Amino acid sequence: MTRVFLASRNAKKLAELRRILEDALPGVEVLGLDAVASYDEPAETEPTFAGNAVIKARAGREATRLVTIADDSGLCVDELNGMPGVLSARWSGAAKDDAANNSLLLAQLRDTPDERRGAEFRCAVALCMPDGHEEITQGVMRGRIITAERGAAGFGYDPIFVPDGQPDGQQLTSAELKAEDKDAISHRGQALRALAPVLARLLTSH
Ligand code: IMP
Repeated sequence: MTRVFLASRNAKKLAELRRILEDALPGVEVLGLDAVASYDEPAETEPTFAGNAVIKARAGREATRLVTIADDSGLCVDELNGMPGVLSARWSGAAKDDAANNSLLLAQLRDTPDERRGAEFRCAVALCMPDGHEEITQGVMRGRIITAERGAAGFGYDPIFVPDGQPDGQQLTSAELKAEDKDAISHRGQALRALAPVLARLLTSH
């Protein structure tokens, strides 16, 4: 079985990545940070999701010499000109506090009418092979920000985000969707499913 290292510190995000990747590539054993020797994780200093995903994946590959995947993701709100973007995890400060981030965002949009509450989650996934080969894939999930939190599943901004295009006009937040239903439409699901055949090809040719 081929081992793939998923370089993510966020336990809930790691669970999603693991679920989607193992589903797309059943022959792969996914290792998290707890399964490798600890190393200095790099600062996410790039202005783009792709740039930060590459920083994280390269650091993981350098430290482990394993096939390494990392994602960088965030919420881009139309009314805030695409912010919080790459600052999503620490929008309300360094603590990476999901509840505080959601409260701040809701307060910032308090006077914004429904028709201007559009937003999207974006995700970039970087793959770094031990021989130096690199690939990046991306995904986007459009939706809108509601006015109060709903739902307890997922993580981050899920309780205030309603994805577009739900069956029968449902208006569930991504924290109310079943895990597999979120995976089927999510930015992270799209990016990882785009990567899976590329990884499968690289694993057989290396
Ligand atoms: P990262 O660990 O730097 O990629 O930070 C991603 C941040 O974006 C998370 O901490 C969340 O605040 C937000 N985010 C990314 N993807 C999702 C998602 O699927 N649901 C909710 N929030 C997300």
